[in-house]
Amino acid sequence: MSLVRKSAAELGALVASGDVSAVEVAQAHLDRIAAVEPRVNAFLHVDAETTLAQARAVDARRAAGDDLGPLAGVPIAHKDVFTTTDMPTTAGSKILEGYRPPYDATVTRRLREAGLVILGKTNLDEFAMGSSTENSAFGPTRNPWDLSRVPGGSSGGSSAAVAAYEAPLSTGTDTGGSIRQPAAVTGIVGMKPTYGGSSRYGLIAFASSLDTPGPFARNVLDAALLHEAFSGHDAMDATSIDAPAPSVVEAARQGEVAGLRVGVVREFGGEGYQPGVLARFHESVELLESLGAKVVEVSCPSFTTALPAYYLIAPSEASSNLARFDAMRYGLRVGDDGTRSAEEVMALTRAAGFGPEVKRRIILGTYALSSGYYDAYYGQAQKVRTLIARDFEAAFHQVDVLISPTTPTTAFPIGERADDPMAMYLADLCTIPANLAGNAAISVPCGLADEDGLPVGLQIMAPVLGDDRCYRVAAAVERALEDRWGGGLLSKAPGL
Ligand code: GLN
Repeated sequence: MSLVRKSAAELGALVASGDVSAVEVAQAHLDRIAAVEPRVNAFLHVDAETTLAQARAVDARRAAGDDLGPLAGVPIAHKDVFTTTDMPTTAGSKILEGYRPPYDATVTRRLREAGLVILGKTNLDEFAMGSSTENSAFGPTRNPWDLSRVPGGSSGGSSAAVAAYEAPLSTGTDTGGSIRQPAAVTGIVGMKPTYGGSSRYGLIAFASSLDTPGPFARNVLDAALLHEAFSGHDAMDATSIDAPAPSVVEAARQGEVAGLRVGVVREFGGEGYQPGVLARFHESVELLESLGAKVVEVSCPSFTTALPAYYLIAPSEASSNLARFDAMRYGLRVGDDGTRSAEEVMALTRAAGFGPEVKRRIILGTYALSSGYYDAYYGQAQKVRTLIARDFEAAFHQVDVLISPTTPTTAFPIGERADDPMAMYLADLCTIPANLAGNAAISVPCGLADEDGLPVGLQIMAPVLGDDRCYRVAAAVERALEDRWGGGLLSKAPGL
């Protein structure tokens, strides 16, 4: 089997045993990238020399007898919203074009410490605002299953890179669904850790009370290995949780659901959902029952108000976070010809540097926070947030995990929702509650929709710091479906 088809765990083992060098593994992926990128456009930046230098360093460590971890020498695609000192960091925005950060994000640093070899930086919706990667200032990424469709977003470059076998692993960030939704629509695994379980230090901020870094992989164990490699307490992030978390790798290996109490969220999965998505979801429920889980329906009434609350809270935080792009400190500067005031240069730069969705969010957030409206909008949304957290708490008195479809539909055609923000926002209907409450949640492939043959994701939500439960259930589903189909879901993808 070619190296690019292997799992991260297999590649790590091959490098550790010396059967294959990290350089060979990196080169195989660079070749694959060169072959498919003209069609997929998952990467904003690839630099073979930097990549091969990292791989050579891993090979040198092995030659020196260093004890390498399970992912040393494994290539990874890194979302271009994490700072990297040796590669540009743009957040998909013109305003940061050419920006070279002076420091590595904690996630970046931990990838390097684990010996992961960074292949490049992946495309995303500008400042992670979107569900399709069409809001990137550098052109859309295409879904490897069907190049006329979106790969989800905002981490669409990361999901497409893994689904197209350009990388076995990638990083993402999930503020309202940006890991789980792209994972679902490209047929891979994507995990949003508990908020505070992975560090935001060096992550370009969108909505700080929601932003959560997490892993993408083609299988559950690989996702768990990456999760463990970069998560955990970080003193540089004030909201980082300083508490021991159960091993997600153990949970992924175990994959047992006998006796587990599973709650089906009553509010998700009715009208407005694609029939093929619902069919695969209902099959997953039956599958879990057949594996010995006790499945019950659970009502979480406040989940239906999560979307509007999110579109007040996230833009409010964004409007404040994006104030730092003031034409003075980073990247782009427009109109600075000696005749204009700093304010004029700032206004010209922001007008030219931000795309329409980012401007929409800044205006929305500024409005929601303005005096006279603050209580009615932002304050009200925060109350809804509390109600959602209470719904989760009540549910987890009855069940161990909650499940729902990850997304209401499969991947939609590029352009279909580009001019309809509301239709775009609905892609995250089922994923947003876990962000507002800070819970752990994963998306695992659960089949193909009959009407279009495109992948469907099953979402598994767990309590705060219950990340291991997500992996346990996802691994059980993956294993059972693998037995049924043979070769995993991605083996059904039309080859590029
Ligand atoms: N699609 C959602 C938005 O546009 C979520 C994005 C994210 O999770 N970063 O805000």
